[in-house]
Amino acid sequence: MIVRDRFFIDGQWATPVSGETIDVHNAGTGAIMGKVPAGTEKDIDAAVAAARAAFESWSATPPAKRAEYLQKIADGLKARAVELGSTIAQEVGMPIKLSGRIQAGLPIANFSNYAKLLNDFQFEARLENSLVIREPVGVVGAITPWNYPLHQIALKVAPALAAGCSVVLKPSEIAPFNAFILAEVIEAAGLPKGVFNLVTGLGPTAGEALVKHPQVDMISFTGSTRAGKRISELAAQTVKRVALELGGKSASIILEDADLVVAVKGTVSGCYLNSGQTCTALTRMLVPASQYDEAAKLAVAAAQGFTLGDPMSETTRLGPLSSHQQLARVRSYIKKGIEEGAELLTGGADQPEGLAGSKLAGGYFVQPTIFGKVHNSMTIAQEEIFGPVLSIIPYHDEEDAIRIANDTPYGLAGAVWSKDEARAQKVARRIRAGQVDVNGGAFNMRAPFGGHKQSGHGREAGVYGLEEFLEYKSLQLKG
Ligand code: NAD
Repeated sequence: MIVRDRFFIDGQWATPVSGETIDVHNAGTGAIMGKVPAGTEKDIDAAVAAARAAFESWSATPPAKRAEYLQKIADGLKARAVELGSTIAQEVGMPIKLSGRIQAGLPIANFSNYAKLLNDFQFEARLENSLVIREPVGVVGAITPWNYPLHQIALKVAPALAAGCSVVLKPSEIAPFNAFILAEVIEAAGLPKGVFNLVTGLGPTAGEALVKHPQVDMISFTGSTRAGKRISELAAQTVKRVALELGGKSASIILEDADLVVAVKGTVSGCYLNSGQTCTALTRMLVPASQYDEAAKLAVAAAQGFTLGDPMSETTRLGPLSSHQQLARVRSYIKKGIEEGAELLTGGADQPEGLAGSKLAGGYFVQPTIFGKVHNSMTIAQEEIFGPVLSIIPYHDEEDAIRIANDTPYGLAGAVWSKDEARAQKVARRIRAGQVDVNGGAFNMRAPFGGHKQSGHGREAGVYGLEEFLEYKSLQLKG
Protein backbone atom coordinates (compact mmCIF):
# COMPACT_ATOMS: atom_id res chain seq x y z
CA MET A 1 0.00 0.00 0.00
CA ILE A 2 1.23 3.46 -0.90
CA VAL A 3 -0.21 5.95 1.58
CA ARG A 4 0.27 9.62 0.87
CA ASP A 5 -1.23 11.80 3.57
CA ARG A 6 0.30 15.22 2.93
CA PHE A 7 0.19 17.89 0.27
CA PHE A 8 3.26 19.77 -0.87
CA ILE A 9 2.54 23.43 -0.11
CA ASP A 10 4.97 26.31 0.41
CA GLY A 11 7.97 24.00 0.41
CA GLN A 12 6.54 21.83 3.23
CA TRP A 13 4.63 18.59 3.48
CA ALA A 14 1.34 20.05 4.73
CA THR A 15 -1.46 18.28 6.58
CA PRO A 16 -4.72 18.30 4.59
CA VAL A 17 -7.64 20.22 6.08
CA SER A 18 -10.06 17.28 5.86
CA GLY A 19 -9.23 13.69 6.76
CA GLU A 20 -10.94 12.38 3.63
CA THR A 21 -8.98 10.18 1.27
CA ILE A 22 -9.30 8.78 -2.24
CA ASP A 23 -8.53 5.14 -3.02
CA VAL A 24 -6.22 4.48 -5.95
CA HIS A 25 -6.58 1.15 -7.76
CA ASN A 26 -4.06 -1.07 -9.45
CA ALA A 27 -5.29 -1.25 -13.06
CA GLY A 28 -3.99 -4.78 -13.59
CA THR A 29 -5.68 -6.36 -10.60
CA GLY A 30 -8.38 -3.92 -9.53
CA ALA A 31 -7.02 -4.04 -5.95
CA ILE A 32 -6.53 -0.87 -3.94
CA MET A 33 -2.86 0.08 -4.29
CA GLY A 34 -2.96 3.12 -2.05
CA LYS A 35 -4.59 6.35 -0.95
CA VAL A 36 -4.17 10.07 -1.41
CA PRO A 37 -5.80 12.97 0.45
CA ALA A 38 -8.95 14.55 -0.96
CA GLY A 39 -8.14 18.25 -1.13
CA THR A 40 -10.71 20.92 -0.29
CA GLU A 41 -11.16 24.57 -1.15
CA LYS A 42 -9.13 25.49 1.95
CA ASP A 43 -6.17 23.35 0.84
CA ILE A 44 -6.32 25.00 -2.57
CA ASP A 45 -6.44 28.44 -0.87
CA ALA A 46 -3.26 27.63 1.05
CA ALA A 47 -1.48 26.38 -2.07
CA VAL A 48 -2.53 29.41 -4.14
CA ALA A 49 -1.44 31.79 -1.36
CA ALA A 50 1.99 30.12 -1.33
CA ALA A 51 2.27 30.30 -5.12
CA ARG A 52 1.21 33.96 -5.11
CA ALA A 53 3.79 34.85 -2.47
CA ALA A 54 6.54 33.03 -4.39
CA PHE A 55 5.70 34.53 -7.76
CA GLU A 56 7.47 37.86 -7.56
CA SER A 57 10.90 36.57 -6.70
CA TRP A 58 10.65 33.49 -8.95
CA SER A 59 9.61 35.60 -11.93
CA ALA A 60 12.62 37.85 -11.27
CA THR A 61 15.04 34.89 -11.03
CA PRO A 62 17.35 34.95 -14.08
CA PRO A 63 16.37 32.41 -16.76
CA ALA A 64 19.78 30.72 -16.49
CA LYS A 65 19.13 30.06 -12.79
CA ARG A 66 15.64 28.74 -13.55
CA ALA A 67 17.25 26.47 -16.15
CA GLU A 68 19.57 25.06 -13.49
CA TYR A 69 16.60 24.10 -11.33
CA LEU A 70 14.82 22.49 -14.29
CA GLN A 71 17.88 20.42 -15.12
CA LYS A 72 18.15 19.34 -11.46
CA ILE A 73 14.53 18.21 -11.60
CA ALA A 74 15.21 16.27 -14.83
CA ASP A 75 18.21 14.61 -13.14
CA GLY A 76 16.16 13.82 -10.03
CA LEU A 77 13.42 12.21 -12.11
CA LYS A 78 16.03 10.24 -14.03
CA ALA A 79 17.41 8.84 -10.80
CA ARG A 80 13.90 7.58 -10.00
CA ALA A 81 12.95 6.48 -13.52
CA VAL A 82 12.52 2.79 -12.70
CA GLU A 83 10.24 3.58 -9.77
CA LEU A 84 8.26 6.00 -11.93
CA GLY A 85 7.85 3.49 -14.76
CA SER A 86 6.64 0.82 -12.37
CA THR A 87 4.33 3.15 -10.41
CA ILE A 88 2.64 4.38 -13.58
CA ALA A 89 2.41 0.85 -15.02
CA GLN A 90 0.34 -0.02 -11.95
CA GLU A 91 -1.74 3.17 -11.79
CA VAL A 92 -2.48 3.39 -15.51
CA GLY A 93 -1.94 -0.16 -16.76
CA MET A 94 0.56 0.64 -19.52
CA PRO A 95 2.92 -2.33 -20.06
CA ILE A 96 6.08 -1.84 -18.03
CA LYS A 97 8.45 -1.78 -21.00
CA LEU A 98 6.59 1.11 -22.62
CA SER A 99 5.86 2.77 -19.31
CA GLY A 100 9.56 3.13 -18.54
CA ARG A 101 10.30 4.54 -21.98
CA ILE A 102 7.27 6.79 -22.40
CA GLN A 103 5.73 7.53 -19.00
CA ALA A 104 9.06 8.11 -17.25
CA GLY A 105 11.23 8.95 -20.27
CA LEU A 106 9.17 11.80 -21.74
CA PRO A 107 8.88 13.86 -18.54
CA ILE A 108 12.62 13.61 -17.94
CA ALA A 109 13.27 14.72 -21.51
CA ASN A 110 10.78 17.58 -21.22
CA PHE A 111 12.28 19.06 -18.06
CA SER A 112 15.72 18.82 -19.60
CA ASN A 113 14.49 20.27 -22.88
CA TYR A 114 13.05 23.34 -21.16
CA ALA A 115 16.30 23.84 -19.27
CA LYS A 116 18.14 23.96 -22.62
CA LEU A 117 15.51 26.05 -24.31
CA LEU A 118 15.74 28.75 -21.65
CA ASN A 119 19.35 29.41 -22.52
CA ASP A 120 18.40 30.66 -26.00
CA PHE A 121 14.95 32.10 -25.52
CA GLN A 122 14.68 35.85 -26.08
CA PHE A 123 12.45 37.40 -23.42
CA GLU A 124 12.77 40.91 -24.89
CA ALA A 125 12.97 42.51 -28.30
CA ARG A 126 13.22 46.07 -29.49
CA LEU A 127 10.45 47.22 -31.85
CA GLU A 128 11.01 50.78 -33.07
CA ASN A 129 10.55 52.95 -29.96
CA SER A 130 9.17 50.05 -27.92
CA LEU A 131 10.80 47.40 -25.82
CA VAL A 132 8.58 44.32 -26.08
CA ILE A 133 8.95 42.17 -22.97
CA ARG A 134 7.63 38.69 -22.43
CA GLU A 135 6.57 38.29 -18.81
CA PRO A 136 5.32 35.21 -16.97
CA VAL A 137 1.53 35.14 -16.82
CA GLY A 138 1.51 34.65 -13.03
CA VAL A 139 0.15 31.86 -10.83
CA VAL A 140 -0.74 28.82 -12.93
CA GLY A 141 -3.26 26.16 -11.94
CA ALA A 142 -2.38 22.90 -13.70
CA ILE A 143 -5.06 20.21 -13.89
CA THR A 144 -4.05 16.93 -15.48
CA PRO A 145 -5.47 13.52 -16.53
CA TRP A 146 -4.39 9.95 -15.84
CA ASN A 147 -3.49 8.48 -19.21
CA TYR A 148 0.07 9.88 -19.51
CA PRO A 149 0.00 11.37 -16.03
CA LEU A 150 3.54 12.62 -15.53
CA HIS A 151 4.01 13.57 -19.17
CA GLN A 152 0.90 15.79 -19.01
CA ILE A 153 2.20 17.28 -15.76
CA ALA A 154 5.67 17.91 -17.22
CA LEU A 155 4.18 19.60 -20.29
CA LYS A 156 2.67 22.19 -17.96
CA VAL A 157 4.97 22.43 -14.94
CA ALA A 158 8.29 22.54 -16.84
CA PRO A 159 7.37 25.39 -19.25
CA ALA A 160 5.44 27.28 -16.56
CA LEU A 161 8.49 27.24 -14.25
CA ALA A 162 10.72 28.08 -17.21
CA ALA A 163 8.55 31.10 -17.98
CA GLY A 164 8.83 32.30 -14.37
CA CYS A 165 5.35 31.29 -13.23
CA SER A 166 4.56 29.63 -9.93
CA VAL A 167 2.34 26.56 -10.03
CA VAL A 168 -0.40 24.74 -8.15
CA LEU A 169 -0.79 21.23 -9.55
CA LYS A 170 -4.01 19.22 -9.16
CA PRO A 171 -3.19 15.86 -10.77
CA SER A 172 -5.65 13.11 -11.67
CA GLU A 173 -7.12 11.29 -8.71
CA ILE A 174 -6.85 8.04 -10.70
CA ALA A 175 -3.05 8.14 -11.15
CA PRO A 176 -1.68 10.57 -8.55
CA PHE A 177 1.36 8.79 -7.07
CA ASN A 178 3.75 9.87 -9.80
CA ALA A 179 2.98 13.51 -8.92
CA PHE A 180 4.17 12.92 -5.36
CA ILE A 181 7.45 11.56 -6.70
CA LEU A 182 7.80 14.73 -8.76
CA ALA A 183 7.11 16.86 -5.65
CA GLU A 184 9.84 14.98 -3.76
CA VAL A 185 12.25 15.51 -6.64
CA ILE A 186 11.38 19.22 -6.74
CA GLU A 187 11.92 19.49 -2.99
CA ALA A 188 15.30 17.77 -3.30
CA ALA A 189 16.23 20.12 -6.16
CA GLY A 190 15.81 23.00 -3.70
CA LEU A 191 13.27 24.99 -5.69
CA PRO A 192 12.32 28.06 -3.63
CA LYS A 193 9.31 27.45 -1.41
CA GLY A 194 5.89 28.08 -2.91
CA VAL A 195 7.06 27.97 -6.53
CA PHE A 196 5.60 24.50 -6.98
CA ASN A 197 2.67 23.19 -4.92
CA LEU A 198 0.77 19.91 -5.10
CA VAL A 199 -2.81 19.29 -3.94
CA THR A 200 -4.63 16.08 -4.86
CA GLY A 201 -8.40 15.78 -4.94
CA LEU A 202 -11.47 15.40 -7.06
CA GLY A 203 -12.30 17.57 -10.07
CA PRO A 204 -15.56 19.10 -8.86
CA THR A 205 -14.05 20.09 -5.48
CA ALA A 206 -10.28 20.70 -5.56
CA GLY A 207 -10.23 21.20 -9.35
CA GLU A 208 -13.07 23.73 -9.43
CA ALA A 209 -11.70 25.61 -6.40
CA LEU A 210 -8.47 26.13 -8.34
CA VAL A 211 -10.28 27.22 -11.50
CA LYS A 212 -12.44 29.74 -9.63
CA HIS A 213 -9.68 31.15 -7.46
CA PRO A 214 -9.28 34.90 -8.06
CA GLN A 215 -5.52 34.73 -7.33
CA VAL A 216 -4.89 32.20 -10.10
CA ASP A 217 -4.00 33.86 -13.42
CA MET A 218 -4.15 30.90 -15.75
CA ILE A 219 -5.52 27.39 -15.89
CA SER A 220 -3.74 24.87 -18.04
CA PHE A 221 -5.98 21.85 -18.39
CA THR A 222 -5.65 18.48 -20.07
CA GLY A 223 -8.55 16.10 -19.92
CA SER A 224 -11.99 15.45 -21.29
CA THR A 225 -13.90 17.89 -23.47
CA ARG A 226 -16.72 17.70 -20.91
CA ALA A 227 -14.51 18.99 -18.07
CA GLY A 228 -12.81 21.47 -20.43
CA LYS A 229 -16.13 23.14 -21.19
CA ARG A 230 -16.99 23.41 -17.51
CA ILE A 231 -13.55 24.85 -16.72
CA SER A 232 -13.89 27.47 -19.47
CA GLU A 233 -17.23 28.59 -18.06
CA LEU A 234 -15.93 28.85 -14.50
CA ALA A 235 -12.67 30.55 -15.50
CA ALA A 236 -14.58 33.18 -17.45
CA GLN A 237 -15.87 34.64 -14.16
CA THR A 238 -12.38 35.87 -13.32
CA VAL A 239 -11.27 36.33 -16.96
CA LYS A 240 -8.44 33.82 -16.59
CA ARG A 241 -6.36 32.65 -19.45
CA VAL A 242 -7.28 29.03 -20.18
CA ALA A 243 -5.34 26.49 -22.22
CA LEU A 244 -7.27 23.33 -23.05
CA GLU A 245 -5.88 20.04 -24.33
CA LEU A 246 -8.93 17.85 -24.78
CA GLY A 247 -10.11 14.70 -26.51
CA GLY A 248 -9.78 13.41 -30.05
CA LYS A 249 -11.25 11.09 -32.66
CA SER A 250 -8.38 10.99 -35.08
CA ALA A 251 -8.52 9.57 -38.58
CA SER A 252 -5.81 7.63 -40.34
CA ILE A 253 -6.33 8.08 -44.08
CA ILE A 254 -4.80 5.27 -46.09
CA LEU A 255 -4.64 6.44 -49.72
CA GLU A 256 -4.94 3.80 -52.45
CA ASP A 257 -1.25 4.07 -53.39
CA ALA A 258 -0.03 3.48 -49.81
CA ASP A 259 1.88 0.43 -48.63
CA LEU A 260 -1.22 -1.19 -47.14
CA VAL A 261 0.64 -3.58 -44.84
CA VAL A 262 2.72 -0.81 -43.26
CA ALA A 263 -0.18 1.63 -43.07
CA VAL A 264 -2.61 -0.78 -41.43
CA LYS A 265 -0.03 -1.99 -38.93
CA GLY A 266 0.92 1.61 -38.11
CA THR A 267 -2.72 2.58 -37.64
CA VAL A 268 -3.56 -0.35 -35.37
CA SER A 269 -0.49 0.41 -33.25
CA GLY A 270 -1.46 4.09 -33.19
CA CYS A 271 -4.92 3.10 -31.99
CA TYR A 272 -3.90 0.58 -29.34
CA LEU A 273 -1.03 2.46 -27.67
CA ASN A 274 -1.75 2.59 -23.92
CA SER A 275 -4.82 0.41 -24.57
CA GLY A 276 -6.34 3.17 -26.69
CA GLN A 277 -6.14 5.66 -23.83
CA THR A 278 -4.19 8.16 -25.88
CA CYS A 279 -5.76 11.44 -26.89
CA THR A 280 -4.13 11.22 -30.34
CA ALA A 281 -5.17 7.56 -30.86
CA LEU A 282 -5.86 6.77 -34.53
CA THR A 283 -9.33 5.38 -33.86
CA ARG A 284 -10.80 5.70 -37.35
CA MET A 285 -9.00 3.90 -40.16
CA LEU A 286 -10.18 5.24 -43.52
CA VAL A 287 -9.52 2.81 -46.38
CA PRO A 288 -10.44 2.85 -50.09
CA ALA A 289 -13.62 0.76 -50.52
CA SER A 290 -11.79 -1.32 -53.16
CA GLN A 291 -9.13 -2.35 -50.59
CA TYR A 292 -11.49 -2.79 -47.65
CA ASP A 293 -11.37 -6.62 -47.46
CA GLU A 294 -7.59 -6.76 -47.54
CA ALA A 295 -7.26 -3.92 -45.00
CA ALA A 296 -9.75 -5.57 -42.64
CA LYS A 297 -7.84 -8.86 -42.79
CA LEU A 298 -4.54 -7.14 -42.07
CA ALA A 299 -6.05 -5.13 -39.20
CA VAL A 300 -7.49 -8.22 -37.52
CA ALA A 301 -4.12 -9.98 -37.77
CA ALA A 302 -2.37 -6.93 -36.29
CA ALA A 303 -4.90 -6.69 -33.45
CA GLN A 304 -4.46 -10.33 -32.57
CA GLY A 305 -0.73 -9.74 -32.21
CA PHE A 306 -1.40 -7.46 -29.24
CA THR A 307 -0.69 -9.92 -26.43
CA LEU A 308 -2.90 -8.95 -23.55
CA GLY A 309 -1.75 -9.44 -19.99
CA ASP A 310 -0.15 -8.25 -16.81
CA PRO A 311 1.24 -4.74 -17.32
CA MET A 312 4.15 -5.70 -15.09
CA SER A 313 5.25 -8.42 -17.52
CA GLU A 314 7.91 -7.59 -20.13
CA THR A 315 6.07 -9.49 -22.87
CA THR A 316 2.68 -7.76 -22.54
CA ARG A 317 1.75 -5.50 -25.45
CA LEU A 318 -1.78 -4.60 -24.33
CA GLY A 319 -2.41 -3.76 -20.70
CA PRO A 320 -5.71 -3.07 -18.95
CA LEU A 321 -7.67 0.18 -18.93
CA SER A 322 -7.00 2.51 -16.01
CA SER A 323 -10.17 2.30 -14.02
CA HIS A 324 -13.41 0.52 -13.45
CA GLN A 325 -15.34 3.47 -14.92
CA GLN A 326 -13.25 3.29 -18.10
CA LEU A 327 -13.92 -0.42 -18.38
CA ALA A 328 -17.69 0.08 -18.13
CA ARG A 329 -17.53 2.98 -20.60
CA VAL A 330 -15.51 1.14 -23.24
CA ARG A 331 -17.63 -1.98 -23.01
CA SER A 332 -20.79 0.06 -23.44
CA TYR A 333 -19.33 1.69 -26.58
CA ILE A 334 -18.55 -1.76 -28.00
CA LYS A 335 -22.14 -2.82 -27.36
CA LYS A 336 -23.38 0.37 -28.97
CA GLY A 337 -21.27 -0.32 -32.06
CA ILE A 338 -22.88 -3.74 -32.42
CA GLU A 339 -26.37 -2.29 -31.84
CA GLU A 340 -25.83 0.41 -34.46
CA GLY A 341 -24.92 -2.21 -37.05
CA ALA A 342 -21.12 -2.06 -37.29
CA GLU A 343 -19.49 -5.40 -38.07
CA LEU A 344 -17.49 -6.81 -35.15
CA LEU A 345 -14.37 -8.26 -36.81
CA THR A 346 -12.46 -9.21 -33.67
CA GLY A 347 -12.68 -8.63 -29.91
CA GLY A 348 -15.90 -7.62 -28.19
CA ALA A 349 -17.36 -6.45 -24.91
CA ASP A 350 -16.76 -9.65 -22.92
CA GLN A 351 -13.88 -10.10 -20.52
CA PRO A 352 -10.87 -11.51 -22.39
CA GLU A 353 -10.40 -15.26 -22.03
CA GLY A 354 -7.94 -16.73 -19.59
CA LEU A 355 -8.20 -14.11 -16.86
CA ALA A 356 -10.84 -15.77 -14.67
CA GLY A 357 -9.29 -17.28 -11.57
CA SER A 358 -5.98 -15.46 -12.08
CA LYS A 359 -4.68 -12.44 -10.15
CA LEU A 360 -5.70 -10.36 -13.17
CA ALA A 361 -9.38 -11.36 -12.88
CA GLY A 362 -10.27 -8.03 -11.27
CA GLY A 363 -8.15 -5.99 -13.72
CA TYR A 364 -9.76 -3.62 -16.20
CA PHE A 365 -9.07 -5.57 -19.39
CA VAL A 366 -10.77 -5.17 -22.74
CA GLN A 367 -10.11 -7.33 -25.79
CA PRO A 368 -8.38 -5.65 -28.73
CA THR A 369 -11.44 -4.85 -30.81
CA ILE A 370 -12.01 -3.95 -34.45
CA PHE A 371 -15.23 -2.86 -36.10
CA GLY A 372 -15.58 -3.07 -39.87
CA LYS A 373 -17.94 -1.31 -42.30
CA VAL A 374 -18.39 1.53 -39.86
CA HIS A 375 -20.35 4.55 -41.04
CA ASN A 376 -18.92 7.83 -39.82
CA SER A 377 -22.26 8.89 -38.35
CA MET A 378 -22.22 5.97 -35.88
CA THR A 379 -21.56 6.73 -32.22
CA ILE A 380 -18.31 4.70 -32.25
CA ALA A 381 -17.01 6.92 -35.08
CA GLN A 382 -18.02 10.21 -33.49
CA GLU A 383 -17.28 9.85 -29.78
CA GLU A 384 -13.98 9.30 -28.01
CA ILE A 385 -14.00 5.72 -26.66
CA PHE A 386 -10.58 5.73 -24.99
CA GLY A 387 -10.10 1.98 -25.30
CA PRO A 388 -8.54 -0.48 -27.77
CA VAL A 389 -11.34 -0.12 -30.31
CA LEU A 390 -10.64 0.62 -33.98
CA SER A 391 -13.32 1.53 -36.54
CA ILE A 392 -12.62 0.80 -40.21
CA ILE A 393 -14.47 3.17 -42.50
CA PRO A 394 -14.49 2.62 -46.28
CA TYR A 395 -14.34 5.70 -48.56
CA HIS A 396 -14.81 6.36 -52.30
CA ASP A 397 -12.16 8.87 -53.24
CA GLU A 398 -9.68 11.33 -51.74
CA GLU A 399 -12.28 14.09 -51.28
CA ASP A 400 -14.56 11.66 -49.50
CA ALA A 401 -11.71 10.58 -47.19
CA ILE A 402 -10.88 14.18 -46.25
CA ARG A 403 -14.54 14.96 -45.65
CA ILE A 404 -14.92 11.93 -43.34
CA ALA A 405 -11.67 12.70 -41.50
CA ASN A 406 -12.94 16.21 -40.71
CA ASP A 407 -16.46 15.12 -39.86
CA THR A 408 -16.27 14.89 -36.04
CA PRO A 409 -16.37 17.61 -33.37
CA TYR A 410 -12.69 16.93 -32.64
CA GLY A 411 -9.47 18.03 -34.33
CA LEU A 412 -6.50 16.80 -32.35
CA ALA A 413 -4.49 14.53 -34.64
CA GLY A 414 -4.49 12.35 -37.71
CA ALA A 415 -2.39 10.35 -40.13
CA VAL A 416 -2.00 10.06 -43.90
CA TRP A 417 -0.33 7.23 -45.80
CA SER A 418 0.72 7.35 -49.46
CA LYS A 419 3.73 6.34 -51.57
CA ASP A 420 3.60 9.88 -52.95
CA GLU A 421 4.92 12.04 -50.11
CA ALA A 422 3.80 15.31 -51.74
CA ARG A 423 0.27 13.98 -52.13
CA ALA A 424 0.22 12.79 -48.52
CA GLN A 425 1.33 16.22 -47.32
CA LYS A 426 -1.36 17.90 -49.44
CA VAL A 427 -4.02 15.73 -47.81
CA ALA A 428 -2.48 16.25 -44.35
CA ARG A 429 -2.78 20.02 -44.77
CA ARG A 430 -6.52 19.65 -45.36
CA ILE A 431 -7.15 17.75 -42.11
CA ARG A 432 -8.35 20.19 -39.46
CA ALA A 433 -6.18 18.91 -36.64
CA GLY A 434 -3.17 20.09 -34.67
CA GLN A 435 -0.85 17.24 -35.53
CA VAL A 436 -0.84 14.89 -38.54
CA ASP A 437 1.64 12.05 -39.04
CA VAL A 438 2.72 11.51 -42.63
CA ASN A 439 3.68 7.91 -43.47
CA GLY A 440 4.30 7.08 -39.83
CA GLY A 441 6.47 10.14 -39.09
CA ALA A 442 7.74 9.99 -35.50
CA PHE A 443 6.39 11.94 -32.52
CA ASN A 444 8.47 15.07 -32.01
CA MET A 445 8.43 16.38 -28.45
CA ARG A 446 9.57 19.85 -29.57
CA ALA A 447 6.80 20.31 -32.15
CA PRO A 448 3.58 22.11 -31.14
CA PHE A 449 0.91 19.84 -29.71
CA GLY A 450 -2.75 20.72 -29.34
CA GLY A 451 -6.12 20.78 -30.95
CA HIS A 452 -8.47 22.45 -33.38
CA LYS A 453 -12.24 22.52 -32.88
CA GLN A 454 -13.44 20.81 -29.68
CA SER A 455 -10.03 19.28 -29.04
CA GLY A 456 -9.14 22.53 -27.33
CA HIS A 457 -6.95 25.55 -27.83
CA GLY A 458 -3.41 26.50 -27.02
CA ARG A 459 -0.28 24.53 -27.74
CA GLU A 460 2.08 22.52 -25.57
CA ALA A 461 5.66 21.29 -26.05
CA GLY A 462 8.84 22.99 -27.14
CA VAL A 463 9.03 26.74 -27.47
CA TYR A 464 5.30 26.87 -28.28
CA GLY A 465 4.55 25.42 -24.86
CA LEU A 466 6.76 28.03 -23.17
CA GLU A 467 4.98 30.87 -24.98
CA GLU A 468 1.66 29.70 -23.53
CA PHE A 469 2.78 30.90 -20.11
CA LEU A 470 4.01 34.31 -21.22
CA GLU A 471 2.26 37.66 -21.41
CA TYR A 472 3.43 40.55 -23.63
CA LYS A 473 4.26 43.95 -22.26
CA SER A 474 5.51 46.89 -24.29
CA LEU A 475 7.49 49.73 -22.83
CA GLN A 476 7.19 52.80 -25.07
CA LEU A 477 10.55 54.52 -24.89
CA LYS A 478 11.35 58.15 -25.49
CA GLY A 479 14.77 57.74 -27.00
P1 NAD B 1 -11.23 14.27 -16.91
O1 NAD B 1 -11.63 15.46 -17.66
O2 NAD B 1 -12.27 13.48 -16.25
O3 NAD B 1 -10.19 14.65 -15.76
C1 NAD B 1 -9.00 15.35 -16.04
C2 NAD B 1 -8.61 16.16 -14.81
O4 NAD B 1 -9.59 17.17 -14.62
C3 NAD B 1 -8.56 15.38 -13.51
O5 NAD B 1 -7.52 15.90 -12.71
C4 NAD B 1 -9.91 15.68 -12.88
O6 NAD B 1 -9.91 15.57 -11.48
C5 NAD B 1 -10.11 17.12 -13.31
N1 NAD B 1 -11.51 17.55 -13.40
C6 NAD B 1 -12.60 16.83 -13.73
N2 NAD B 1 -13.70 17.60 -13.68
C7 NAD B 1 -13.30 18.84 -13.31
C8 NAD B 1 -13.97 20.06 -13.07
N3 NAD B 1 -15.30 20.17 -13.18
N4 NAD B 1 -13.25 21.14 -12.70
C9 NAD B 1 -11.91 21.06 -12.56
N5 NAD B 1 -11.21 19.92 -12.75
C10 NAD B 1 -11.90 18.82 -13.13
O7 NAD B 1 -10.37 13.45 -17.96
P2 NAD B 1 -9.64 12.05 -17.72
O8 NAD B 1 -10.69 11.01 -17.80
O9 NAD B 1 -8.73 12.10 -16.55
O10 NAD B 1 -8.68 12.00 -19.00
C11 NAD B 1 -9.07 11.51 -20.21
C12 NAD B 1 -9.34 12.62 -21.19
O11 NAD B 1 -8.20 13.44 -21.35
C13 NAD B 1 -9.65 12.13 -22.56
O12 NAD B 1 -10.78 12.79 -23.09
C14 NAD B 1 -8.42 12.45 -23.36
O13 NAD B 1 -8.59 12.59 -24.73
C15 NAD B 1 -7.98 13.69 -22.73
N6 NAD B 1 -6.56 13.91 -22.99
C16 NAD B 1 -6.19 14.91 -23.82
C17 NAD B 1 -4.87 15.14 -24.09
C18 NAD B 1 -4.44 16.25 -25.00
O14 NAD B 1 -3.31 16.69 -24.89
N7 NAD B 1 -5.27 16.76 -25.84
C19 NAD B 1 -3.90 14.35 -23.52
C20 NAD B 1 -4.29 13.33 -22.67
C21 NAD B 1 -5.64 13.14 -22.41
